[in-house]
Amino acid sequence: MSVFKKVKNTFNLLKSVDLDQLAKINKQIDLAEAMKKLGELDESQLKGLMKMLKTKRKKGQSELPPISGDFYNLDLKLTDEQRKLQMEVRNFMEDEVRPLVNDHWNKAKFPYEIIEKFKKLNITGVPYEGYGCPNLPFLMEGIIAQEIARVDVSISTFFGVHSGLAMGSIYLCGSEEQKQEWLPKMQKLEKIGAFGLTEPNVGSGVAGGLETTCKFDGENWILNGQKKWIGNATFADVIVIWARDEDSNQVKGFLVRKENPGFEAKKMEDKMALRIVQNALITLTDCKIPEGDRLQKADSFKDTAKVLKMTRAGVAWQAVGCARGAYESALKYTRKREQFNRPIASYQLIQNHLVEMVSNLTAMQTLVFRLSEMQDEGLLQDEHASLAKVFCSMRTRDVVSRAREVMGGNGILLEHDVARFVADAEAIYSYEGTKEINSLIVGRAITGYSAFVN
Ligand SMILES: Cc1cc2nc3c(=O)[nH]c(=O)nc-3n(C[C@H](O)[C@H](O)[C@H](O)COP(=O)(O)OP(=O)(O)OC[C@H]3O[C@@H](n4cnc5c(N)ncnc54)[C@H](O)[C@@H]3O)c2cc1C
Repeated sequence: MSVFKKVKNTFNLLKSVDLDQLAKINKQIDLAEAMKKLGELDESQLKGLMKMLKTKRKKGQSELPPISGDFYNLDLKLTDEQRKLQMEVRNFMEDEVRPLVNDHWNKAKFPYEIIEKFKKLNITGVPYEGYGCPNLPFLMEGIIAQEIARVDVSISTFFGVHSGLAMGSIYLCGSEEQKQEWLPKMQKLEKIGAFGLTEPNVGSGVAGGLETTCKFDGENWILNGQKKWIGNATFADVIVIWARDEDSNQVKGFLVRKENPGFEAKKMEDKMALRIVQNALITLTDCKIPEGDRLQKADSFKDTAKVLKMTRAGVAWQAVGCARGAYESALKYTRKREQFNRPIASYQLIQNHLVEMVSNLTAMQTLVFRLSEMQDEGLLQDEHASLAKVFCSMRTRDVVSRAREVMGGNGILLEHDVARFVADAEAIYSYEGTKEINSLIVGRAITGYSAFVN
């Protein structure tokens, strides 16, 4: 390839993509080499190059700023190593996951093949110490949740359930033996986990109202009841089940193995959000669980709540990723789409939508960034995580609906990468505590009065 062609290719690529994708471009063209060659050009060659670029340039196009949903440059607050991991996750999601999500979402299928590929990233059990886990700050867990959700919220939910809720329950409530048995294998994604708390009749009121029961018969625990909405449960190897002890009335946790007699998981069909996530209705019929599979440090709902406190921050980050993905796709679209002979991004009313989107996104990002810092500093309380979850899931709904709006009819087509976010934002809004329940947690903290009705 001639020097001219190489340099021109580089310039053209740089003009047309956002800076976050530089790493990807680097794979196609040796940027350093191309830039070096540029420096070697003599004056007449440079003039020729400039002429060539000018003639090909569309009016105003070359000056377009990069597309990035990180308006306040929060990424710059990460260390080089953290930033490197963030980019690795981003490139993986772009290369391996983006090409298949729309089809899988449409067919409500889980892309099992990506589990094997995910192993290489080593991003499971990010904040935990020991058991092969990376032991990185909670901030990195949040950044990773954002990066995954930026491409697909279902895959991020698969991860949140496995690495956060299931591994987190064992990490916080398991005995040393239980941790040794499960966490290293779950960290390597050799065993997959699920978390069963919600029931057909009991969602928000799980703290005091679980209908699934457990009873010790002197040898085993006998579990009876149903769990609804349980993500990953159709294929998980271990499902953490929370049940009310018939004798003490306290909530206890159990590690139910998929092959356990009395355990049945039936896939929930026809969801209009997170269609890739395999949610199940679980039925437990005289399901016998040995004492060794009872979570040894889970004695009441307070222990369940510790797990939720730890993971709720991740859901807030997920909401940010969802909003970021939708915003970036919408911005890209509005700069390309022309109506009345001009890109629609040049119209004031469209810009107003985009600015509302980036304002919300920036507010969310700064909020979750501080939230994770507090988690790393040991300052996180339930109400902090709840506030972030409420705020981010509300604002995300607004961002995705504007993203869909500025895309006109194409906004409801999966192929334009926004429709999926619009639907998925609805699930984020409701799971891990609805808006009302998380608001009540914050309300109780700031007023001193509990407004939960018993
Ligand atoms: C896609 C998806 C994935 C999920 N994955 C899992 C999972 O893996 N594991 C799991 O255990 N659960 C899971 N869930 C369940 C989820 O956590 C519950 O849906 C959620 O807690 C709300 O419960 P509910 O749907 O039964 O709603 P309900 O509790 O019936 O609430 C209905 C409405 O009433 C409101 N409400 C309830 N109580 C009050 C009150 N005191 N004051 C004011 N308003 C109130 C709620 O805010 C809501 O608006 C998932 C849910 C979804 C949608």
